[in-house]
Amino acid sequence: EKFRNGLSKTRRSFSDQLNNLVKRYRKVDEDFFEELEDLLIESDVGVTTVMDLVEKLKDESRTRNIKDTEELKEVIAEVLSEFLTRDETETQLNMNPEGLSVFLMVGVNGAGKTTTIGKLAGRLKNQGKSVLLAAADTFRAGAIDQLQVWGDRAGVDVIRHQEGSDPASVIFDAIKAAKSRKTDVLLCDTAGRLQNKVNLMKELEKIKRVIEREVPGAPQEVLLVLDATTGQNALNQAKLFRQASDVTGIVLTKLDGTAKGGIVLGVRHELNIPVKLIGLGEKMNDLQTFDADAFIYGLFS
Ligand code: GDP
Repeated sequence: EKFRNGLSKTRRSFSDQLNNLVKRYRKVDEDFFEELEDLLIESDVGVTTVMDLVEKLKDESRTRNIKDTEELKEVIAEVLSEFLTRDETETQLNMNPEGLSVFLMVGVNGAGKTTTIGKLAGRLKNQGKSVLLAAADTFRAGAIDQLQVWGDRAGVDVIRHQEGSDPASVIFDAIKAAKSRKTDVLLCDTAGRLQNKVNLMKELEKIKRVIEREVPGAPQEVLLVLDATTGQNALNQAKLFRQASDVTGIVLTKLDGTAKGGIVLGVRHELNIPVKLIGLGEKMNDLQTFDADAFIYGLFS
């Protein structure tokens, strides 16, 4: 239900327009596909993905001899769903079954990293896991305190140094603390200043090396947090971060605030990285596991 409500803007905008289109055309033809293309682009699916989608739709309608737009609607749902899922387990968070799991959270400032870490901490704690936070965004003024607020809210400790200190050494200390406390999951916040890309990427690589050295098999997840309202910009950021840090999953935030939820499709298709979690609000409980079927169903109901 929450999933449905959270995506209501996207749903309304997409399904209303699609229904309109289907009624106006009735028969499947080149003009119909062209308008469908426009609609998908407006929903921020991304040009490359839209082209591939429509190509696939044309193929399917030819093979199955579909002439009626109402009938094609079902095929559209099928094809969108195919574009979103590779296999059903891909949204699961990867956990070390015995011992410490380390999740590295990356993304630009303002994307919703801190909020997501807080929500995720609360959720893991609810599942009976012990959680620790590492405040390795030592660059942005206030970032450490902001993480502390979320730590307090979720009831988990934050390992922190002073502003301006070396992020990798915060991570090192946090791992030490997590080991001695037998913590289940360590969530690491990182800086997200994109103005200095080279330094940021170097910093992330250094952090990752520390994690890999101190905890064999870690990080279990490198989660890239993207703001859905920034549309195609988010896609470009993702490409950048992917180069530096072997992103294992995407967290798409602020889907509650946008009618452009189609970005989910572009992210999945163009980056080949699964969307694992979505943010549907600013509160503790507004983080959901991404459910491709519910998403598609939502778009068409
Ligand atoms: P960070 O700089 O990446 O750590 O971003 P923050 O976690 O500070 O989030 C930036 C702003 O986005 C804050 O005002 C958050 O409350 C807001 N925010 C984060 N996630 C969501 C979401 O899923 N939905 C909405 N509506 N707002 C969000």
